[in-house]
Amino acid sequence: MTEDVILSTSGLTKDFGGFTAVKGVDLKVKRGTIHALIGPNGAGKTTCFNLLTKFLPPTKGTIVYNGRDITREKPAEIARLGLVRSFQISAVFPQLSVKTNVRIALQRKRGDSFDFWRSESELKPLDDEALRLVEAVGLSAFAELPAVELSYGRKRALEIATTLALDPEMMLLDEPMAGMGREDVERIEALIRKVSQNRTILMVEHNLSVVASLCDHITVLARGQVLAEGDYAHVSKDPRVIEAYIGS
Ligand code: ADP
Repeated sequence: MTEDVILSTSGLTKDFGGFTAVKGVDLKVKRGTIHALIGPNGAGKTTCFNLLTKFLPPTKGTIVYNGRDITREKPAEIARLGLVRSFQISAVFPQLSVKTNVRIALQRKRGDSFDFWRSESELKPLDDEALRLVEAVGLSAFAELPAVELSYGRKRALEIATTLALDPEMMLLDEPMAGMGREDVERIEALIRKVSQNRTILMVEHNLSVVASLCDHITVLARGQVLAEGDYAHVSKDPRVIEAYIGS
């Protein structure tokens, strides 16, 4: 493995009973890039993601992060090493304010309990830090609003803020634009570009125009295998990729 590869897999494989959803995938994600995993429905993208973040154990193969074999590490240990999957929206506390949600994520990072009973003055430094993250994701105007009242796109921005609270070196984003209107897509795209400035991002994304404008490197999966790799201009011209999408 070379220095500039932050995450790699070798022969990554996942069987579900007799069905192989991911077959011998070799992935190399370069440090500091935005890397997309794309492919038609059923290609194995979600399974791959679940293997990388240890939501699922692989049947075969290895996963190396920063030179360390993490194939058998637990999810919490992987997050501690700096590889963090963005939270699902369900992990946001809907009745709590945007700021409090981010503060709780900061407290988690420090290993604190939720400590709602602490005095305002004790919480002030954490609240200030939470507000900085809220501002960084463009939610300052909504800091005191219960998370449930945010628009869908802004909930995803909150999700990114709670992930940033863990100070990840590498973020895994599972379809960050799913279900969004154009305005929210543009907002989240700008946010991902901003947070990628000092970290690596690996994302699964269906919106190919977003992938084209945002991602440095693309791995195309089909039927559990790597079909093509390269920048968007390269993979989008590959006849096998076109066929896989049309045939899906
Ligand atoms: P994608 O995210 O690219 O749409 P998935 O990783 O969700 O693809 O699924 C790849 C294949 O694996 C699909 O055929 C799917 O039905 C199958 N699959 C995914 N999860 C399971 C599971 N838990 N049990 C059995 N088959 C599964």
